[in-house]
Amino acid sequence: MAVKNALPRRRTKIVCTIGPSCDDRRTLERMIRAGMDVARLNFSHGEHAEHDKALERIREAARRVGRVVGILQDLCGPKIRLGKLPGDVQQVRAGQEVVLRPAVRGAGAAPGEWPVEYPKLADDVKAGDRLLFDDGTVEARVVDTKDGAVRVRFPRAGTLKSRKGLNLPGVAISMPSVTRKDLRDLEWGLAHGVDFVALSFVRRPEDLEPVRARLRKERKPPWLISKIEKPEALNHLPEILAASDGVMVARGDLGVELDFARVPPIQKRMIKLANASDKPVITATQMLESMTQNARPTRAEVSDVSNAILDGTNAVMLSGETAVGRFPVEAVATMSRIAEEAEAFKLGDSGTYWLPGRDARASCIHDALALGVEKISRSLEVHAIVAATRSATTARYLSTSRPRVPVLGLSPDPWALGRMALLWGVVPVPCKRWIHSREVLRQGTRVAQRHGLVKPGDTLAVAVGQESPGVFTGRILVHRVPTEEAHAKRNGRRKNAKRKARRKK
Ligand code: PGA
Ligand code: MN
Repeated sequence: MAVKNALPRRRTKIVCTIGPSCDDRRTLERMIRAGMDVARLNFSHGEHAEHDKALERIREAARRVGRVVGILQDLCGPKIRLGKLPGDVQQVRAGQEVVLRPAVRGAGAAPGEWPVEYPKLADDVKAGDRLLFDDGTVEARVVDTKDGAVRVRFPRAGTLKSRKGLNLPGVAISMPSVTRKDLRDLEWGLAHGVDFVALSFVRRPEDLEPVRARLRKERKPPWLISKIEKPEALNHLPEILAASDGVMVARGDLGVELDFARVPPIQKRMIKLANASDKPVITATQMLESMTQNARPTRAEVSDVSNAILDGTNAVMLSGETAVGRFPVEAVATMSRIAEEAEAFKLGDSGTYWLPGRDARASCIHDALALGVEKISRSLEVHAIVAATRSATTARYLSTSRPRVPVLGLSPDPWALGRMALLWGVVPVPCKRWIHSREVLRQGTRVAQRHGLVKPGDTLAVAVGQESPGVFTGRILVHRVPTEEAHAKRNGRRKNAKRKARRKK
């Protein structure tokens, strides 16, 4: 049966950064069809009014395509940026000196001086400190600090643009981890019902507290994602993971803040830890970087995406490729294809890492439910799993079991559906509210059948979480989809029974 909006078969999720290259509904629709699962709104750039419009367009596009698209709000955290440079682009010569001065709102910089959007720069650095601009592409050293300004010297020639980022590896900056702007932006996110809030430059679990405290006041809070891009964070990974709902391997800044050669092993370690903690992990930055300019990726990029998936990442992310690149749709389609191939390898006989030690003790009822269903799907020939969930929790645990068969994440609640958009192997599907588990069974079977996941005679494993304040009941159902005759017979029996019942009256 041909299906209008075929469900994606790919298990790894794709996060796409939104920007000028995809600021129209048509492109967004094409990106969703090509495989965008989560749209990332980067609050390092843009006013709230612009994000309003972007969000509206994404939601409209998702509605038209008939797919759930999660929204990730990325809070910029304590990122230092250049202000507006004279002429927006500046070439520096080898040996040139420039004075960096905190930007005063509305005031232009003095000749020979560049504005920096950080008032305390001169207090935090000292002569000899290294400054890295624009993801480390341009380097400078502090010569001296005077009157709140910092004089730097560029050892090599380079090009700099307005608003580019600035890293100070090894310098303890005094900016708070969650800035006033972040908290204002967070209010926007909560008012607009975003599904994920990512916090940049997390160093310690305490850094999350201001955001967490605010989220605690929400009845249906978004998931909090810690972006790991500071060397300090690496010393507190388990605690940061415990305090977060997910993590991002933010390789862009991480590879500037410490030696980039260390990034791949760190990525592997983080993915392992996140998987073991049942939390989703996003691998990010420069994954298909050359596709910003070209329609085809380099082989090294293809390997990078594939290897992140073989490592066990939940999601892969596109940044400039979709935000400012020339081929946003092709980038998503390329990523999707690479993912499918990597998954086929892992899910097939040649896959080696599948199903790590997930037979251990369950951490909660949802976990136990997920473990049970997953185990059934392994011990019996099950063709699909249905997880009916109000909070996405059962689906989250199922996702970390990395089941071999697709999981349909059924929920009547947009809150749960949005979260499931990030979960490996889980396809979020809106459904009607249920009271009895047989209503879930009926809806799940219908969706699975419509999308060709199961046919009559096939088996479905179903996890249903029933939740009301203070009460949670989990049920596991194993269901054989009735064949046509069985269906007819059963219906016939039911009709007969009804007829008899009527006659009695
Ligand atoms: P950014 O974060 O794109 O917001 O800087 C990701 C990274 O640093 O890799
Ligand atoms: Mn970053």
